[in-house]
Amino acid sequence: MDADMQQQLKNAFPLVKTLCDLEPVTWINSKATSTEEGMPYVGLTADQVEEAAQRLQRFAPFLMSAFPETAAAQGIIESAIVPLPTLQKTLDVRLGIKSGGHLLLKKDSHLPISGSIKARGGIYEVLTHAEKLAIEAGLLKESDDYSILNSQAFREFFSHYRIAVGSTGNLGLSIGIVSARLGFGVSVHMSADGREWKKNKLRVNGVNVVEYEQDYGMAVEQGRREAASDPRCFFIDDENSRTLFLGYAVAGGRVRKQLKEMQVKVDAEHPLFVYLPCGVGGGPGGVAFGLKLAFGDNVHCVFAEPTHSPCMLLGVHTGLHDAVSVQQLGIDNLTAADGLAVGRASGFVGRAMERLLTGFFTVSDRQMFDLLGLLARDEHLKLEPSALAGMPGPWRMQQAQDALAAQGISPQQLSQATHLVWATGGGMVPEEEMARYLGA
Ligand SMILES: *Cc1c(COP(=O)(O)O)cnc(C)c1O
Repeated sequence: MDADMQQQLKNAFPLVKTLCDLEPVTWINSKATSTEEGMPYVGLTADQVEEAAQRLQRFAPFLMSAFPETAAAQGIIESAIVPLPTLQKTLDVRLGIKSGGHLLLKKDSHLPISGSIKARGGIYEVLTHAEKLAIEAGLLKESDDYSILNSQAFREFFSHYRIAVGSTGNLGLSIGIVSARLGFGVSVHMSADGREWKKNKLRVNGVNVVEYEQDYGMAVEQGRREAASDPRCFFIDDENSRTLFLGYAVAGGRVRKQLKEMQVKVDAEHPLFVYLPCGVGGGPGGVAFGLKLAFGDNVHCVFAEPTHSPCMLLGVHTGLHDAVSVQQLGIDNLTAADGLAVGRASGFVGRAMERLLTGFFTVSDRQMFDLLGLLARDEHLKLEPSALAGMPGPWRMQQAQDALAAQGISPQQLSQATHLVWATGGGMVPEEEMARYLGA
């Protein structure tokens, strides 16, 4: 993009200028419609999400057997929701705004197997692929007890197949660990920002880690290329995969059940706001789709991105989607938030979800680190920086009252809302690394 086009884009969209200045922004999405109107654009259905939930149920005996840490939940990979009363008070004072409602945290940071939101979509796609191969080979029926997959015979079978993925780290961890345990040959193409401990953990698990000097986009390209040259190699496409998206979407129905058990009321007068850190978009997009299926117009999903990597906000706001990258506007895509350092958003997710998202905001790395420290101090919970991206959400919504009112969400409703911040990763960060985060 030449300087002229940059300037045209800034003239047409004043918010783009703010993004280029790396100033934190909050944008209430003027393209948002009712759930009913927006849903058909997703191109996926409630039945498909239900099918995904049932597939995960079939695999529960395998997961229990291969990953004993999942046994406590009977092989279902799910995280707890916890209240953050102390942090909410602290931030009300620090930010000088009253958030209203209740602040809750969804601890995907502590999901078993890979300690991030990627344990939803990534693992689901590997399981879907394994099931298809085994059923086509006549080795497995849906009515079988899938714990038989945790056997030498099946590992031998899967060893004739390969899986490849490009990742900034967490997707690679999920896909690498589960693929290797099933017996697949697996390559994870890691971008330059990938953490050393994640690469080591993968290598210890028998995964081939390929490292790049460049960012996530390049790692994905190379993964795609590797798979294209080998008919037995399956490439997991973080940018376009409907399967990944459906794996994430299963979260919606589970959250509904959890909030019901916690006696948290969600209705028109008591809306649920959910704040989701966004990288390429599949994780937050899939979860938001599942939440919309579960709660309809009573849930408001808001995406959070680093000020240095606001790719989804840029794509949806300008309507250019994956035809524009943050780098083309001179934004460097450098952030300490693993998983969020993505310069070009998924075109599939942006187009599927743009009518169903209430808003977007950007957060500085400095604020993510500050929030990481406060959460550790006030609630004794340790997360990685990216998992804090959504935390300013409730206060940003208060500041955006007028724009929300224009979307039909009154200050009264906002004051009675439940604010669920999606903590996307951090449960497996080694202690030395966590000490560095806390000292940053
Ligand atoms: C991957 C990731 C995200 C965002 O998911 P996308 O599908 O890339 O949008 C958020 N937080 C963490 C910790 C992640 O690893």
